[in-house]
Amino acid sequence: MEVKTSLLDNMIGVGDMVLLEPLSEDSFLENLKKRFDHNEIYTYIGSVVISMNPYRSLPIFTPEKVEEYRNRNFYELSPHIYALADEAYRSLRDQDKDQCILITGESGAGKTEASKLVMSYVAAVCGKGQEVNKVKEQLLQSNPVLEAFGNAKTVRNDNSSRFGKYMDIEFDFKGDPLGGVISNYLLEKSRVVKQPRGERNFHVFYQLLSGASDDTLKKLKLHRDFSKYNYLSLDSAIVNGLDDAANFRTVRIVGFMEDEVQSVLELVAAVLKLGNIEFKPESRCNGTDESRIKDKNGEPTDEESVLERAFSYRTVEAKMEKVSTTLNVAQAYYARDALAKNLYSRLFSWLVTRINESIKVTKTRHKVMGVLDIYGFEIFEDNSFEQFIINYCNEKLQQIFIELTLHEEQEEYIREGIEWTNIDMNLHLLSNNQNGILAMLDEECLRPGTVTDETFLDKLNTICAEHQHFESRLSKNSKFLNDHSLPHNCFRIQHYAGKVLYRVEGFVDKNNDLLYRDLSQAMYKANHSLIKQLFPEGNPSKVNLKRPPTAGFQFKASVGTLMKNLQTKNPNYIRCIKPNDKKASHIFTESLVRHQVRYLGLMENVRVRRAGYAFRQAYEPCLERYKMLCKRTWPHWRGPEREGVEVLMTDLQVPADEFSYGRSKIFIRNPRTLFFLEERRRQ
Ligand code: ATP
Ligand code: MG
Repeated sequence: MEVKTSLLDNMIGVGDMVLLEPLSEDSFLENLKKRFDHNEIYTYIGSVVISMNPYRSLPIFTPEKVEEYRNRNFYELSPHIYALADEAYRSLRDQDKDQCILITGESGAGKTEASKLVMSYVAAVCGKGQEVNKVKEQLLQSNPVLEAFGNAKTVRNDNSSRFGKYMDIEFDFKGDPLGGVISNYLLEKSRVVKQPRGERNFHVFYQLLSGASDDTLKKLKLHRDFSKYNYLSLDSAIVNGLDDAANFRTVRIVGFMEDEVQSVLELVAAVLKLGNIEFKPESRCNGTDESRIKDKNGEPTDEESVLERAFSYRTVEAKMEKVSTTLNVAQAYYARDALAKNLYSRLFSWLVTRINESIKVTKTRHKVMGVLDIYGFEIFEDNSFEQFIINYCNEKLQQIFIELTLHEEQEEYIREGIEWTNIDMNLHLLSNNQNGILAMLDEECLRPGTVTDETFLDKLNTICAEHQHFESRLSKNSKFLNDHSLPHNCFRIQHYAGKVLYRVEGFVDKNNDLLYRDLSQAMYKANHSLIKQLFPEGNPSKVNLKRPPTAGFQFKASVGTLMKNLQTKNPNYIRCIKPNDKKASHIFTESLVRHQVRYLGLMENVRVRRAGYAFRQAYEPCLERYKMLCKRTWPHWRGPEREGVEVLMTDLQVPADEFSYGRSKIFIRNPRTLFFLEERRRQ
């Protein structure tokens, strides 16, 4: 860390946690609170930015601020997300280094807002001109569409991203943006058919019903009234400060063709209408009940009959033979919901692909900046497959964070010719195999015979009992906890961020993520080109008996690709913290913040930064700042700066093991030494 004046002068609290003395969790929290109370929402840990959600608009994101931070050194001004964005953009442009911005934090902590601030900063400072502006506009405009389809009101956040997003922005050699690529991760599709209390479905449903013209709604055969739709929760349909109708209009401007927009809206409408299909039992002579769609007025259309059949029967193909079994009412509802979830999530992926087509780079790209906005670690009362997968991803991110931070330190030491010895990182990096619980779940799901959540849990428990030290089968730094006092349908994992109890119910089903073939075939038969396109496996001429990869497998693979991608880039971290769970400004709930500081591993982060040499400073500014403390260097030192600093340290009698001379910087081991120097300056 290079100490510049602004971090030491006129600072509220300490601008960089590395300077915190004494360092403890309490002093860390006190410093965060003090700064938050004075509207200082950003604090550094070296080059990492901690961002506290202010829950109100602060006047620190103006064009004037952008100008202020533009082309300035990272530590020159007070901590700001713009300083990080500027540093990243400049090293991309001037030093040809690919960058990634990793934004983590829990729901409502401000990740998405932070990612937009970074993007808008970069857009403001990079190239100008008509063509470049068009690219910038397209990149920025992908946000409202993805938010409409991928965000929802939850109890934690009125605009919660229910998917993970990674966006590569690609630049030419001058540093002008050319376009980009977006990857999406794990949309929470269960929300389509059911929302927890106090939460809503995805924004787009409400936007369409309240923002579309009467004419559009009539064509789509929709009512404006939310209460007509089973899939829309009503208790929280109106969200303060959220203008669905106005947002609907912004969503529409993105560069889609008119007929594409129409198709997309038809699909959204189809999902709403699917939710209104109801079933009734019809007794059969063998005494079983078979489901039938409840009578509507008039005869069903052709398409409805195909669907109707799909909701009444399930065809299973075994050994070249087709067997049809009938569905009972419960199974029919299950099939209906599975179809709605699949339609919607495939539509979402299609949208991402379609947006990627329009922002695709055709020229040779030169450098890339990746921005990752992905769900943080989740510990709820009830944790299921989704939390398991999200936490798996966070384990990976934490692992890569520590590896990259260490790596960066090491590189700097090598560059500066400082020996990398006796540095006790004091980190618990367990290295074990990667073949984790997810793989075990896959094995179980693919096994012939009856597979249930219970058989999976039994297997997990058995294997764990056999291997007393079955540590971290999940990933490098987490382990399975053997505990017989748990509720019978649960297992527990020690993550780096804490212990989490998972309920096994639904694991097998969610991992399998299968759609009855009859349903995909019915979809493929639909007289609608977009729907057809979304269900290619429904094409009867392409009956593929190989089952599709499981949800866990796909997620693991995409996280693997993401990690590989991140590893090739220079990382920049933004760690977001939510100050309270009331969505309120000015409230700092200590226990809540403490919890986040723990599971973001922030103390560990400070320790890594301080493990070797806590500070480093180029010789010139160091001499400039402290030359007044020594007669031989004051007022002018005429030799090389490094020698001036050597004279300074000798005359001030700083113990030799407290610092090292690097090629261009002095490295100081302990914050105390710095405070000693600062103290002397003030005398
Ligand atoms: P999720 O994981 O649920 O998607 P998130 O971390 O992306 O959560 P955001 O949607 O970015 O959280 O932020 C939640 C809300 O907090 C925003 O809608 C906004 O009201 C407020 N907020 C976040 N950052 C800022 C900021 N820098 N200035 C003002 N308000 C902010
Ligand atoms: Mg978000």
